[in-house]
Amino acid sequence: MLGLMQDWPLLSYKIIDHAAIHHGTRKVISRSVEGPIHTTTYADIRARSLKVAKRLDQEGIRLGDRVATLAWNTWRHLEAWYGILGIGAVYHTVNPRLFPDQIAWIVNHAEDRIMITDLTFVPILEKIASKLATIERYVILTDGAHMPQTSLKNAIAYEDWIGSVDGDFEWRFFDENTAAGMCYTSGTTGNPKGVLYSHRSNVLHSLVASAPDMLGISSRDVVLPVVPMFHANGWSLALTTPMMGATMVMPGAKLDGASIYELLNDFKVTVTAAVPTVWLMLLQFLESSGSKLPYLKKVVIGGSACPRAMTQKFQDNYGVEVMHAWGMTEMSPLGTVCTLKPDYADLSGEARLDIQQKQGHAPFGVEMKITDDHGREVPWDGKTFGRLKVRGPSVARAYFKEAESAIDKDGFFDTGDVATMDPHGYMQITDRSKDVIKSGGEWISSIDLENLAVGHPKVAEAAVIGVPHPKWDERPLLVVVLKKEQTATKDEILAFMQGKIAKWWMPDDVVFVDEIPHTATGKIQKMTLRDQFKGYILPTAEAAE
Ligand code: AMP
Repeated sequence: MLGLMQDWPLLSYKIIDHAAIHHGTRKVISRSVEGPIHTTTYADIRARSLKVAKRLDQEGIRLGDRVATLAWNTWRHLEAWYGILGIGAVYHTVNPRLFPDQIAWIVNHAEDRIMITDLTFVPILEKIASKLATIERYVILTDGAHMPQTSLKNAIAYEDWIGSVDGDFEWRFFDENTAAGMCYTSGTTGNPKGVLYSHRSNVLHSLVASAPDMLGISSRDVVLPVVPMFHANGWSLALTTPMMGATMVMPGAKLDGASIYELLNDFKVTVTAAVPTVWLMLLQFLESSGSKLPYLKKVVIGGSACPRAMTQKFQDNYGVEVMHAWGMTEMSPLGTVCTLKPDYADLSGEARLDIQQKQGHAPFGVEMKITDDHGREVPWDGKTFGRLKVRGPSVARAYFKEAESAIDKDGFFDTGDVATMDPHGYMQITDRSKDVIKSGGEWISSIDLENLAVGHPKVAEAAVIGVPHPKWDERPLLVVVLKKEQTATKDEILAFMQGKIAKWWMPDDVVFVDEIPHTATGKIQKMTLRDQFKGYILPTAEAAE
C-alpha cells in the first residue's frame, strides 16, 4: 500500500523559489569582478534566473545539456546556476586553477554547449578556444560597458544576454532524479572523473547540511562561502544558504586575507567556510594588522586537515568556533562535521582540541564503515585504521560516461581515505590510502606529522612523504616551507616534534623548500612531491646499509 502524501519532486530550483517567496528581501552581497560591491536580493536573483532560463531555452539548451561555468562566487554565477537548473540543464562548474589543457579535456568530455565565464578567464579561454569544439557560445559575466574585445565565438555580455528577454517563463518540470550539476574530481593521477549530482541529491544534501549539528545555518545568519562554487559542488552553500534564507556574501575573485577580512567585518558575517590555506592567509592578516573578528561565530574548515594550531588560534584569540568538516566531490560534498555531541560537549582545553582534530560525525543520510584490506569491518575504537567507505542518497554511484560502477556490491563507495572511528562515531582521517607511510608493516599517518610540524612557529607549510628505506620499506621525510624571513635547522624542527608522537613516527629527515606543489583545489600534490624526491637517500638509509 502506498502512502497518501503528495508527490512533490525534490527539484533544486524550488530552493530559489522558497528563498524569493519567504526571504525575498534578504540580501546577496558580492564583490564584483569589476571591483565595486554589488547588492541584490533573493527575489531579484530569482527574477533574473528566470531570464537566464528563458534565454538558454531560446538557444536550444534542453534537458540534460551541460552548461559550463568558469567563474568566481558572485550573484551572477548564482543566477546562472538557478537558471540552468530551472530548465533541467546541468551546471558544470569548471575549476580555473586547472592547467588550460585539463580545462579543455574536461569541457570536451562533458560536451558543454555554452560557457558562462568571468572577465578574469577570457584570456585563458581565448588560448584554448580552438580545442573547445562543443561550445557554441561564450557568455561573459559582465555588462556591455565592461565587455572586452574578444575572439571567443558568439561572445556576449551576460547583462545584454539576459537583457534581451523578459522574465515571463515557468521552470520546467521533470523527474527529481534528473542530473542537476557536474563537477570533475581533482584527481592527482589519471584523467579527471565527472561526478553528476541530481536534483534530488542536491535538495536532500542541502537539508542535511543545514542541520544544527552540521553547518547550523539559519535565516539570522550571514554566510560567506569563500569556498568557490567550482570546488566540490561549492560545498553546496549556493543551495543551502538560500534554502535557509540566510544573507549571502560572495567574495568574487579576491580571496586574500585583507579582502576576506573586509567582507567579514563590513557585512557582519556570522558563518564562513573554506580550505585551511585561505584561513592561514586570514590569520596572518589578523596577526599583522591587530584586527579582531567581532561578528564571526563559526568557521567551517575542510578540504584538507585543519591544523590544531589553526583551531586554537580561531577559538582562543578570536572567539570563533571552528567546525572541522570532511567530505569529497563524490559526496555532494559533506561527509562529517565536528560539532560536539553531549559525550564531548563538556570538554575544554587540550581535551576539546583533541576531539576537534577529528573530522567529525556523520549526519543522517551518510552511512559509514571502515574496513581492512580484505573488506572486513574493523572496530570503532578510535585507534584501528581502516579504509573509509560511505553510502547514501547524495553519494556517487558511478562517474559520468564510465561504464563501471563506483560502488561495491553492498552499495558502498570507497573514499580512498584511511580513517579511525571512535565509539561515539567521530571519524578521524589518518591519511589518503596512497599517502600513508608503510614502515616495517605498520602505518604512519602523514597528516598527523604535517599537522604537528605546522604547529612550529616558524613553519608556514609542511608535507610528509614516504621515502624508500632498505630496512623499514618506507620512512617519513618532512618537507618544510618556512614563514617569510625565518630560518631554522632540521634539529630545531625535530626537537619540537619529539615527545608528541611515537618515537618510530619521527621523520628520518627534514628538507627546506621554497614551495610545496598544490593541486587545483589547494591540496598538497604528494605525487609530484614524491617525484621531486625520487631517489632521495635518507641519512638513516645510508646507516642501515
Ligand atoms: P575533493 O573531492 O577534491 O574535495 O577531495 C576530497 C578529499 O579531500 C577527501 O577524500 C580527503 O582525502 C580530503 N579531505 C577533505 N576534507 C578533509 C579534512 N577535513 N581532513 C583531511 N582530509 C580531508
